Amino acid sequence: MREVRERRQAPCPPWQRGALLARRWPVLLLLFAWLPLATAAPSVALNESERAYLQAHPTIPLCIDPDWWPFELIDPAGRHVGMAADLIALVSQRTGANFTLHPTRTWEESLVASRAGDCLALSFLNRTAERERWLIFTEPLMVDPNVLITREEHSFVSDLGALRGKTIALPRGTAMYERIARDFPNLTIIPTESEREALALVSERKADMSLRSLIVAATTIKHEGWFNLKISGQIPGYENQLRMGVLKSETTLRDILDKGIATLTALERRQIVDRHVNMTVVTDVVTDYTLAGWLGLMLTAILATSLLWMARLRKLNDQLKRLAETDPLTGLPNRTALASSFTLDILRAQRYDRPLAVILLDIDLFKAVNDQLGHLMGDKVLVEFAQLLRSGLRNVDTACRWGGEEFLLICHETSLEQATQLAERILQRIREHRFPCQRALTASAGVAAAMPGDTVARLVQRADDALYVAKHSGRDRVRLKLAELADVD
Ligand code: GH3
Ligand code: MG
Ligand code: MG
Repeated sequence: MREVRERRQAPCPPWQRGALLARRWPVLLLLFAWLPLATAAPSVALNESERAYLQAHPTIPLCIDPDWWPFELIDPAGRHVGMAADLIALVSQRTGANFTLHPTRTWEESLVASRAGDCLALSFLNRTAERERWLIFTEPLMVDPNVLITREEHSFVSDLGALRGKTIALPRGTAMYERIARDFPNLTIIPTESEREALALVSERKADMSLRSLIVAATTIKHEGWFNLKISGQIPGYENQLRMGVLKSETTLRDILDKGIATLTALERRQIVDRHVNMTVVTDVVTDYTLAGWLGLMLTAILATSLLWMARLRKLNDQLKRLAETDPLTGLPNRTALASSFTLDILRAQRYDRPLAVILLDIDLFKAVNDQLGHLMGDKVLVEFAQLLRSGLRNVDTACRWGGEEFLLICHETSLEQATQLAERILQRIREHRFPCQRALTASAGVAAAMPGDTVARLVQRADDALYVAKHSGRDRVRLKLAELADVD
């Protein structure tokens, strides 16, 4: 087994994703929760030679993998951080062994430094025959299972040996590659240059599965957003037993560290794993919230703009409608305004057998006003005529400029007789009114009442017929057209 430690492109730690650790209060809470443990006094009983060793080695140079998140890395401030760092900090605290980081740029550099004796200890690695040539190993700081990663739709893999015709993507030259090739010849291995590439092949359906450290897999899947992947099995005996390695000459150091490692409880280990896996989760969640926040903000902005536009459009439409339905000179509704409501009025009156009458009024000899006093004066007269009509009507009735100097009054709950009386009263008011033209004006009126089967056109036509009669019988008078005569029309 040449290289048991799985090489990978580690998922980025929070600061590499532009996320400020200081802003992550849940992470800080966890860190503070951890503080009492980290600052506890040494709790391990050391013998004479072990104490002497530590006195002789007040600081012990430590080499680590500078890029193996979430297990460990060297952060931008040059500190050893990650799960391994936390575990070693506990061991250090309890034994009094004081490590100083010997910084390197790569794991390979760390191995070279270790061989050269520049660092007495290596932080977090599997025991292999190759490494045993210059290292001795502590008990595992952590056991991390290697798990099978498949796509979401894949069923749980209970027996890798029973699978036929399946492909597994594995990084070249790793211990896992060698072991799978040896133990499971039924699988076709697709070699990759990195663990990330191996997982990418699975996500992209170019391979059926991959094998990877549970912790690294979990953080990578979250970081890369490969949510079509899942953990679908574990192979017994394929776990990473991550230990500290010390130079063969440093047996006392190994013994001291073993005493410290023996004090690590399952809970402490789990808290450390949770902390770093949670940290990623918390960071992702916060990032997601930030994204969701931005999306929400954008949607709100779009929604607000749309609502504003809708409100503006509605207002403009209302204005247009009002303009289209209002006679600009008199302010009375025009024919268009009545189009739908008048029809409904007639239908309602017919259905409930309620009286409805209309009065069609026409100013007598209005042309003469225009001709003699000017069109502007004519306009003034029309405006005042409209006001007079409006003021003489009940609120429920409607006055409308039917066209030119003709006005239509719709009188609800009004019989033909009542409408005739109303028309008489209106003509009287017109006679008595002093218009701006300073001359007496009169009007003629035709009255008709709605009858079964009536339409707007027929009802108004009868009123018009009556008006015609009024005009031709001397003007300044009311004429009505009886409903029973309507059938004759
Ligand atoms: P009659 O008694 O037979 O109704 O005679 P009349 O002169 O009132 O009727 P005629 O149909 O001959 O003339 C109507 C006049 O009303 C002609 C037209 O110029 C005028 N008129 C129509 N609309 C307006 C308007 O908006 N402003 C003004 N100033 N005059 C208008
Ligand atoms: Mg007229
Ligand atoms: Mg007319």
